[in-house]
Amino acid sequence: MAVSGTKDSLKQRGVRLTRQRQILLDLIDQSGEHLDAEALFQLAKKKDPKLNRVTVYRTLKLLKAGGLVDELDLMHHAGDQHYYETRLKQEHAHVICLRCGKIEEFFGDPLRHMRDQIETHFGFQIVLARTEVGGYCAHCQVLRAQEMEEAARQGSASSVDSRAPGARGG
Ligand SMILES: [Zn+2]
Ligand SMILES: [Zn+2]
Repeated sequence: MAVSGTKDSLKQRGVRLTRQRQILLDLIDQSGEHLDAEALFQLAKKKDPKLNRVTVYRTLKLLKAGGLVDELDLMHHAGDQHYYETRLKQEHAHVICLRCGKIEEFFGDPLRHMRDQIETHFGFQIVLARTEVGGYCAHCQVLRAQEMEEAARQGSASSVDSRAPGARGG
């Protein structure tokens, strides 16, 4: 996908690229991560100490409305935060671990096929597709299995084992 043209499209949309907007846009474009507004504020403040939270939030809204950044909730794995990501990246699905919050990006043909199928099936013209997949990463699967084993052991032991928490009295 073309990396140039961001500023042109911004101009076309009538969005003036102020210094503050440029700082935030650069941070989002250059970050390979999915940063939330607070993290972006902290980073932006290092570049321009005069920046305040309100300005950062307002600017993010504007960049989003201008189609320059994408706003994600990533399955709300950490609550109500929203995350911002560059639009310059090739379309990808987000694979989110609901336990540790690890985020993987899936690029690949299946996404393109799904797009094609949806467009054909509904006669629909897709402008933007956002795909999120929630589940457990390999590491968390092991931990969850251990936890469930542990819980099962405690559950079966609690009737006879007085060491189990809560077994005595109530
Ligand atoms: Zn995990
Ligand atoms: Zn992403």
